[in-house]
Amino acid sequence: MNFRAIPVFVLAAGAATFALAASRDSIDNIGETRLKGPLGEKLDRMIERHVLGTDLNYITAPFMEKTETKGWWQTEFWGKWMHSAIPYSHYAPSDRMYNAIETGIGRILESQEPSGYIGNYPDELRCGEGWDVWGMKYTLMGLLHDYDNEQRGGWVSRMNVPLDAAKKLCDYVIAEIGPNGRRGRELWQTGNWSGYASSSILEPVVWLYRRTNEKKYLDFATYIVKGMSEPESGPRLVDLALKGVSVADRNGYGNKPDTHGGYVMKHNRWKSYEMMSCYQGILDYVEEKEKLDGCTEALRNLRKAAIMTADDIVKEEINLAGGCACSEAWYHGARKQHLPYLHLHETCVTTTWMRFCEKLLEVTDDPKWADQIERTFYNAYLAAMKPDGSEFAGYTPLSGNRWHGQHHCYMHTDCCTANGPRGFLCFLKELCRNDGKTATFNFYASALVKGFDMYSLYPRANYARIVSHTEGPLAMRLRIPAWSAKTVVKVNGAAQDGVKPGSYFTVSRDWKLGDIVEITFDMPVVAHVIDHSVAFTRGPVLLARDSRFADGDMTEPFRRGVVADGKRMDGFSAVRTPSDDIWMAFSATLPIGSHHENPEGANGLAVMFCDYASAGNLWQPSNYYRTWFPVEYGPEE
Ligand SMILES: [Zn+2]
Repeated sequence: MNFRAIPVFVLAAGAATFALAASRDSIDNIGETRLKGPLGEKLDRMIERHVLGTDLNYITAPFMEKTETKGWWQTEFWGKWMHSAIPYSHYAPSDRMYNAIETGIGRILESQEPSGYIGNYPDELRCGEGWDVWGMKYTLMGLLHDYDNEQRGGWVSRMNVPLDAAKKLCDYVIAEIGPNGRRGRELWQTGNWSGYASSSILEPVVWLYRRTNEKKYLDFATYIVKGMSEPESGPRLVDLALKGVSVADRNGYGNKPDTHGGYVMKHNRWKSYEMMSCYQGILDYVEEKEKLDGCTEALRNLRKAAIMTADDIVKEEINLAGGCACSEAWYHGARKQHLPYLHLHETCVTTTWMRFCEKLLEVTDDPKWADQIERTFYNAYLAAMKPDGSEFAGYTPLSGNRWHGQHHCYMHTDCCTANGPRGFLCFLKELCRNDGKTATFNFYASALVKGFDMYSLYPRANYARIVSHTEGPLAMRLRIPAWSAKTVVKVNGAAQDGVKPGSYFTVSRDWKLGDIVEITFDMPVVAHVIDHSVAFTRGPVLLARDSRFADGDMTEPFRRGVVADGKRMDGFSAVRTPSDDIWMAFSATLPIGSHHENPEGANGLAVMFCDYASAGNLWQPSNYYRTWFPVEYGPEE
């Protein structure tokens, strides 16, 4: 197949009439924002070296060869790539991006069998124990992104070819493992993790329904949701959530968890990435189903299960870096984050958590989910990204070294580096949403957004300045982070009343060109103590000591009784960074060291900190960093 790319974008006019303009599951508002400053540079590097650096002939080769026999996941890489490449082709259009998209979509469409199947498994192994259904999930996402792109008016028309291919692929899944399917097994019984992996196909099945309005796809979604909730040994994503069972404790309810300790398990329910992917689909499903059935109790419970689970993840799992999961699994990680647990922050988990929060922000309009995205983005997410943007780490320890991900399925890529570029989209899409009546600012960074110019060194500095490039009435909503106890908002120099942490503050006015809104955040360094260990945050940013500062033993203990949980710390000062590798640097004089009975030894120690994302970012074994520090014990303990 041969498609000619026509790089013509008609965003402003086209978007207004675009049927899916309200849907956030694809291209969305991505062409309205241009990120500047350090973040803009990071994003540009990532698009250039990672997204554009991907060889589409290579990642689509498995679809042509169909030689998978080990039950692996070579077929997730193309769909993940499309999930970021299509939006980024609107953020930073280029001929290279169009050509790469064309190469990939051409080969994927060519690989589709008359049965509708797109994948790399031989017939006898399809829709079975491996990651075949999971791969088809990502292929559906990729095809639907291409369709959206076509509908957006900026692309050569394929006459609905990608949508037809997606329908045929979904029809194939329904025929094989849908109700009374040919394979004689239920969808949730295939794949790994008690059905989480395969069930997460729900998300693009709902997307497909959204784009076709064909009842059979919503019926199939309903079937998947039943599989997620009713079978005793299945995912049990609804009843266990509504009972308040914490995500780490959901094994043993009708399933027989495996104990061999390997990554891929048939029956466990503790896998973070796959579980959250299911809830993401549930939220999409409830949205569509409510349009037909109204707000039924069953639908309310589905949404409640997703929200209760996310609240539980915040309370039990998310650490100061906004990361979670040990060895890709839930483990009550929030209370254990000071300890050296194995394989922290799988980048797939980090990205999926940000996507889940983005969906929750859309559904609830509660800015606490934007607080979560922000913390994860500035810490766990950016830490995982190699500074040149070319790849993402598989795991990102709270103390240790940065290092490359694995190579998966005998390929020169892996699940995490393939997922990485999708994560930045959550930040970019929610930075500012402006529908002409309301402009909601969730994040603060130097950027040109629709109608406004934002200038800020945030979170390096505690100040953001937004200038109006628009005229007329509009409500500007500003997210006031929960951690900023006293935020000052000024409009053309006049301080505003009623600014509260953890809420949106609205400035409604008839905007004039050049109107200026200034926000000053309350951003002290705060100590966090867990069981004789201490860590420090400043606003959304976790601080770290780094071996490049060469300022002593990072394991030297803090003196007992001097640091307390929640205490605002004096003695930290922002200082000039020693090199371009480090975004933020702070000097601090702290009560570190053991010989404080001696007048000289009682003096504080001057040490340096940087932001967690910059820590260790040389990606060399010699570049070591630490975020949690020991605190002395006394004789009575
Ligand atoms: Zn991964």
